[in-house]
Amino acid sequence: MSAIKCIGILTSGGDAPGMNAAVRAVTRTAIYNGMTVKGIYRGYKGLITGEIEEFKTQNVSNIIQRGGTILKTARCMEFKTPEGRQQAYENLRKENIDALVTIGGDGTLSGARIFAQEFNVPVVGLPGTIDNDLFGTDVTIGYDTALNTIMECVDKIRDTASSHERLFFIEVMGRDAGFLALNGALASGAEAAIIPEISMEKDQLSEMIEQGLRKSKNSSIVLVAESEVTGGAIGVAERVKKEYPHFDVRVTILGHLQRGGSPSAQDRIMATRMGAAAIDALMEDQRNVMIGIQSEQIVYVPFSKAIRNEKPINRDLLNVLRTTSI
Ligand code: ADP
Repeated sequence: MSAIKCIGILTSGGDAPGMNAAVRAVTRTAIYNGMTVKGIYRGYKGLITGEIEEFKTQNVSNIIQRGGTILKTARCMEFKTPEGRQQAYENLRKENIDALVTIGGDGTLSGARIFAQEFNVPVVGLPGTIDNDLFGTDVTIGYDTALNTIMECVDKIRDTASSHERLFFIEVMGRDAGFLALNGALASGAEAAIIPEISMEKDQLSEMIEQGLRKSKNSSIVLVAESEVTGGAIGVAERVKKEYPHFDVRVTILGHLQRGGSPSAQDRIMATRMGAAAIDALMEDQRNVMIGIQSEQIVYVPFSKAIRNEKPINRDLLNVLRTTSI
């Protein structure tokens, strides 16, 4: 029997569909194994303010299909300070929480890592972000749902795009990672994707236009990852208006609708597996690891690796996109 008797669980940073499935799986697997579970609201903020409630199995009933997170989420600046983390630790002690499961992105895992080191608390992280930008796991919770949402939106835009002769730039999320833009483009049959991984290497816009965009088509759709370097869809469209004024350009920013909606089957299943694995990991005395999935297998990825390493995009997909969009 593990020394861990009480688990605290929180969701933090940007919300992602499937987080609820993970909360449900963590809660029920812990209870199944004889542990107590405490839900911590609003991420690290709730840990500092003590917004904590015991979760029974029925607290997580009827949530697997819901988007967002029932635990709420927040960005919490105090947790970046030693005083804030001290306060968080005191609340953990007061609530008799022995270990934490944190669900979120890069920032959430960075916070978890520092906290675990400072106070010697076992922490296991789950990758929850629609951007899919965490190293060590093939996919993150929320990515598949967001990708499907993008595909459906682009399908709809295509109906109107093909009724006119236009060049559409559709901005999707992923400030540092082009997974949504590139795979969204492949899934929706878009003509090209402009992604952050490439933007320092070459001018993707001029290359795309020089390669003969719209030669055989009435209208074209290009997915653009939000980016400070390219200026996102608006930045790219402004450049086209100046440099290639013969194009009739339109911009759509998909924005927060990409985060919403009921999670896909894949996200629910993956979040459930990862949630269960988080409790298994704690019972095996693992700590400071992120649960990942690689080639369908659960893996434990040290926080240091998950945070520090860049997850590479599969560059073969760029060629596939180029070839199939002629
Ligand atoms: P995400 O987890 O989606 O990447 P953020 O980057 O906003 O989202 O991080 C979520 C929260 O994690 C932050 O609001 C903060 O409370 C905590 N956090 C992020 N980075 C650190 C850090 N270096 N030290 C301590 N806490 C951090």
